Amino acid sequence: MQALCLNSNQPKDLSVIEAPVPEPGPTEVRLRVKAVGICGSDVSAALGKPNFDFVIRPRILGHEFSATVESFGEKVEGLSEGDPVCAIAIHSCHTCDNCRAGNTQICEDRQILGFHMSGAMADSVCVDQRYIIPLRYGLGFVEGSLVEPLAVASRCVLKMCEIRPGHDVIVSGCGIIGLLCALLARAAGGNVTVTGASWDEEVRLQKARDLGFSTLVVSDETPLADQIPRLADRFIEASGAPQALAAASDSVQWGGLIGIIATYGSNIDWPATNIVRREQKIHPCMAAAWDDFEAAMKHLRDGIIPVDDLVETFPLSRAIDAFEASFEKTTPKAVMIPED
Ligand SMILES: [Zn+2]
Ligand SMILES: [Zn+2]
Repeated sequence: MQALCLNSNQPKDLSVIEAPVPEPGPTEVRLRVKAVGICGSDVSAALGKPNFDFVIRPRILGHEFSATVESFGEKVEGLSEGDPVCAIAIHSCHTCDNCRAGNTQICEDRQILGFHMSGAMADSVCVDQRYIIPLRYGLGFVEGSLVEPLAVASRCVLKMCEIRPGHDVIVSGCGIIGLLCALLARAAGGNVTVTGASWDEEVRLQKARDLGFSTLVVSDETPLADQIPRLADRFIEASGAPQALAAASDSVQWGGLIGIIATYGSNIDWPATNIVRREQKIHPCMAAAWDDFEAAMKHLRDGIIPVDDLVETFPLSRAIDAFEASFEKTTPKAVMIPED
């Protein structure tokens, strides 16, 4: 089968390879991949960024995908060949306190599909049945490839940041997670402003404007706090830029909330005393659990997410072009489609 392989930790060391079709173990399902997105985390791993040093290479990447059931091991129940599905990206122990509370994404033994094990940027992938979720509401496969990133955004915006009608919300960062957060925050009644850097102006901030958001360019010379008429109730840091998180406190209401959905390539000089004196709440948001996936499918069903405006599709054979578009940030979301 065809697959996209990250070969080493050298930047952009990717190739489309011929790999053996995986055989499902007793509790595993072999899935025929229908659409698989490139995540910001895949891009960071492919660029060899230090926050993705944990990825053992060579590795077939891919954790944002939709598929149909192709075959399964003898202990698998309740699935039939051809069923449309997607999958939870984070595999967990199922016995620790966090897992039993439903917070499988912060299990200390977590393993991530496409980073710790072979992922879905391939014609087929094997996944344990416990992580397979039916693709509901007649959603299409490209929509299905957005369920995972939308689940992550949904957890941050709706569960952790508790956005209410009338809240002023700043979404820092205009990549796909930033745009999904902005769309969800607006649907929750927030007045949303999306920020980016000067190099985002032409493509990514334009996309945010096309989606109806006001935008601001932030730089050392033009700090965000100097550009906003009043402090925000909620600030969602989705850019991964250390300086954006370091400055967030200056743009947020006293008693307001900073949600952090990005990870960072370096440590951050943090104005801890200001944050304490203003009692600003900090909410880190890591990935998503089962109920967030279910919520994401409902958002797609409800038409909150203009999928066609966000996604650019590539055949899997052109995976390198899809990654190049992601490195160059010329598309909000590159989604690869394996050929039949
Ligand atoms: Zn992802
Ligand atoms: Zn656990």
